[in-house]
Amino acid sequence: MEATSEQIDLLMRLQEIDRSILKSKKDLEELPQRAQIAALRQKQELLDQKNIKAEDLYQEAKANVDRLTCEDERLESKQTLTQQRIDESQGDFRSVSALSKDLDGVAKRRETVAFEKEKADKRLHRAESIRRKIHSAQRKFASEIKELEEAFQEQSGHLQEDITKAEAARKKPLNGLNEELIDAYDRAARRCGGVALSELHSNHCTVCRSLIEPNRLLQIKHDAPLSICPSCRRILVVR
Ligand SMILES: [Zn+2]
Repeated sequence: MEATSEQIDLLMRLQEIDRSILKSKKDLEELPQRAQIAALRQKQELLDQKNIKAEDLYQEAKANVDRLTCEDERLESKQTLTQQRIDESQGDFRSVSALSKDLDGVAKRRETVAFEKEKADKRLHRAESIRRKIHSAQRKFASEIKELEEAFQEQSGHLQEDITKAEAARKKPLNGLNEELIDAYDRAARRCGGVALSELHSNHCTVCRSLIEPNRLLQIKHDAPLSICPSCRRILVVR
């Protein structure tokens, strides 16, 4: 293929720019935060599910404590009231006896309620402690994700900027090349994962490193200054 040495320099320059774009894109793809954020989001989801259960347990335990507290308050007023009535019955034996029986019943129920409330309080404390731990883990994950997102934004922003600048810098070498060379370059780049050019060094291709047979070598030297590597199909610069 025909090309002047200036055009070959421009092709090399184009390839240098394209390699830097490829590298920035790869770096962008491989920024570690993406996977780290995904892993944390997964943990967060599991935690949210645990939180729903913990919240149910907490509400149930709290309702139980409230119920027992109310019942005890009711019993307490009943106790006071019954005691007042005993005091007011002025020795009426039958009334006092019936009221005392009531009073005993109320006292026994209060004992049972107190015992149940002690257990319910413990359950509520346990539920509160689980809930607190989950909430604090949720806050921790959220702040870790925020930090990672910020780092990702910053690093990906820099890489995007590099890519934009490099894409703009392609114009200069492209302006000095003709359509045939640009077309050959683009096709080779598509074929070869973005790296279109290679060079012939003695008898091998510098990119794919394969040795070129003597008869092929003759043809390649005849094609100079540009040929095609028989192995990787890149444009081979023959100087
Ligand atoms: Zn090659």
